[in-house]
Amino acid sequence: MNCPHCQRLLYSRQHRTCGFCGGELPDECRLEDWQIAELKAEKAAIAHRRELAKAKDEEEKREQERRNAG
Ligand SMILES: [Zn+2]
Repeated sequence: MNCPHCQRLLYSRQHRTCGFCGGELPDECRLEDWQIAELKAEKAAIAHRRELAKAKDEEEKREQERRNAG
């Protein structure tokens, strides 16, 4: 999707205005509010899963070290 004013690629479809020229974007260039909310929720869920996986990884590493030491 490109900006109808400056033809630059829109790096985000969550804003009402173009980040380059500041032109107002038509609705079809924007995500709906619920889509934006969904995107944000998805991002948060991914970050949460990543945190959990990281914590699990570290725990397994510690477990391994305990076994090696014992
Ligand atoms: Zn623009």
